Amino acid sequence: MLVDAFSRRFTYLRLSITESCNFRCTYCLPDGNDCNSRSGEITLPEIKRLVTAFAKLGTKKVRITGGEPALRKDLCEIIATCKAVPGIEKVALTTNGYRLKRDAEALKAAGLDAINVSIDSLDAATFHLVTGQDKLAEILEGIEYAQAVGIKQVKINTVLLRQHNALALPDFQQFVKDRPVSLRFIELMRTNDNTAFYQKQHLSGSSIQQTLLEQGWQLQAKGISDGPALEYSHADYQGKIGLIMPYSKDFCADCNRLRVSSQAKLFLCLFTEQHQNLRHLLASDDPEPVMQFLQAAILTKAETHYLLDDNSGSTRHLAMIGG
Ligand code: SAM
Repeated sequence: MLVDAFSRRFTYLRLSITESCNFRCTYCLPDGNDCNSRSGEITLPEIKRLVTAFAKLGTKKVRITGGEPALRKDLCEIIATCKAVPGIEKVALTTNGYRLKRDAEALKAAGLDAINVSIDSLDAATFHLVTGQDKLAEILEGIEYAQAVGIKQVKINTVLLRQHNALALPDFQQFVKDRPVSLRFIELMRTNDNTAFYQKQHLSGSSIQQTLLEQGWQLQAKGISDGPALEYSHADYQGKIGLIMPYSKDFCADCNRLRVSSQAKLFLCLFTEQHQNLRHLLASDDPEPVMQFLQAAILTKAETHYLLDDNSGSTRHLAMIGG
């Protein structure tokens, strides 16, 4: 088992498979991809060894992220490889959805259980403004395809932005009224590259939370490998609305996830200063050295991030590690 010095158990791995992205989200990569080369990206055999070691230590869920993971041509093989590792019960993907319409069926056939798609606005022009891509309609169709081919768990990530979607709760509620999707507002996080943007656009999720409670939305119980969202449901809505509030008190108290970047580096937290290179341990099929490394590393995990002190560690933007 992976247990840290604060008795937190880690059963959830977020694995980034590329730093590259084809979107230009204003809060992440506004000038586009800053990754000059795709070289050194974690390979399929390395992924198999890594996930095997994590699974032997109790990891049950793997989320594939990036950058934009759909830029990797071997995405389906990566999903199938993770899914085939004994002990892994769930494989999820976080994507901007630009290939979903084309690839949903293949992703499902590869064993994908769940998908998170980022949609910051349901207004096509605003979506274009925030992401640099005029693809909202295509992405919404992709979500329908994903559900039609049987990817049961579909979630939408919406970064809460003062200027662009702070007043859009009714639109999002309308969206989930007849759709079995969970839409989660994520508080904008400060990274080293977005400080000025963060200062202008950051909003706490608490007023949305308050409105939901006043309207009779009910907080749902969480499973052991669930992410950090608080999810609310309502009898009149098929879908759910959630909140991810990294600036709230005790956000880190039930942290259950670890991250490995596409360069095979272990990040004990999204906002850590240090990361540890695992690559040399992934050259052999023996999981023991990786397991020993992880068991020692976990004891050095800090109790919380320091975002409230305006300290984002060494994280320039989330495409570096995967959000
Ligand atoms: N390309 C994929 C996507 O668009 O979902 C996966 C990578 S992206 C870094 C993962 C998630 O992190 C997205 O939902 C994105 O909106 C979110 N994200 C990126 N930067 C963020 C920030 N500074 N604060 C909050 N969420 C952020």
